[in-house]
Amino acid sequence: MTRAAPVAALPAEPTAPAEPIAGADWTAALAAIRDLPADPEILLVCHVNPDGDALGSMLGCGLGLIRAGLPVQATFPGPFELTPPFDQLPGRELLIDPSAAPAAPDLFVCFDAASATRLGELADRLDTAGTSIVVDHHASNTRFGRIHLVDPGAAATSVVVEELLRRLGVPLDEAIAECLYVALSTDTGSFKFDLTTPAVHELAARLLATGLRPAEISRRLFDSRPFGAMKLYGDVLARATFEPAAAAGRGLVWSYATLADLERHGQPRHVLEGLIDAVRVAEEADVACILKQAGPPSSDQSSSAASGTAHDPDRSEWTVSLRSKGGVDVAEVAVGLGGGGHRLAAGFTVDGSLDEVIEVIRSALELP
Ligand code: 5GP
Ligand code: MN
Repeated sequence: MTRAAPVAALPAEPTAPAEPIAGADWTAALAAIRDLPADPEILLVCHVNPDGDALGSMLGCGLGLIRAGLPVQATFPGPFELTPPFDQLPGRELLIDPSAAPAAPDLFVCFDAASATRLGELADRLDTAGTSIVVDHHASNTRFGRIHLVDPGAAATSVVVEELLRRLGVPLDEAIAECLYVALSTDTGSFKFDLTTPAVHELAARLLATGLRPAEISRRLFDSRPFGAMKLYGDVLARATFEPAAAAGRGLVWSYATLADLERHGQPRHVLEGLIDAVRVAEEADVACILKQAGPPSSDQSSSAASGTAHDPDRSEWTVSLRSKGGVDVAEVAVGLGGGGHRLAAGFTVDGSLDEVIEVIRSALELP
């Protein structure tokens, strides 16, 4: 594992040099959409446990293709549940249960997935579909489809979707724009992160011009949670640990949320999504980490944090979120532990006791 230079030594633009999408890829994608047979089956899929960029990009594209006269079905791998704040997204009527997804669609398009494994049980459509288009912005994208619209310089997958719709001649309307705005504001952390370029604000301006209500959307996405979830956040923040020597001296702040925490406060799991943003504010630490207990350990031994016994009641499955302020490439750490993501925001899922898992993370953050 290679480590990025300390924050002070980083160049102003800390992302890998981005290769824009080649003209031939755009041509191939447009041809794949325009040359479909009559009455085609088109399946759109985004990654498992979808976030705002995954769902917003998929549904925004889906609504655009509908406007272009194409029939579209959209889904994501199980658990198939649309939870707040995404349960009000325009285009949600396009969603079908993954078990009802066509087995061999004429066109398969996937969104915000860096690898085929992120498509879960729907990844087999990559082989059965007439053709496939991978729409994404992860630098680590493994180019697992037929046609690739992958731009690591894009702040969100929705940036690529907007260009695709423009090239298809589909004008933005308010419903499409809301989907793309949710995606863009999710992945830029509400227009705060590194890739918030002039072009991002220009795109936001085009989206807002359709009549969106940004205050309402932002409140729903970032500033609204049940009172019980607020109290739960209090518990999690109260037990946060700061380890100044961790991450080769760059500092680690971490905490965890258990199923018992959720139960005690009567909260569903999705309220935990914002926890990482609550801990990453600790200015002393470059790296922030939240461990979310997900359930009993998976049987997949390859994701085990340590060689403990499978029947140990202390062991469970943990979903881990990692963030860096710039000094550590947490995508590399996450990839090394079976996950993925971006340089400054990444995650993975692992089995183990809480102590085992945090120790594995500590060690991964020390590797040269
Ligand atoms: P979060 O911490 O918000 O769940 O995820 C941050 C980013 O890490 C996501 O945008 C996604 O790119 C990536 N990510 C999170 N979990 C996983 C995982 O299990 N596998 C992969 N490949 N990427 C993940
Ligand atoms: Mn994304």
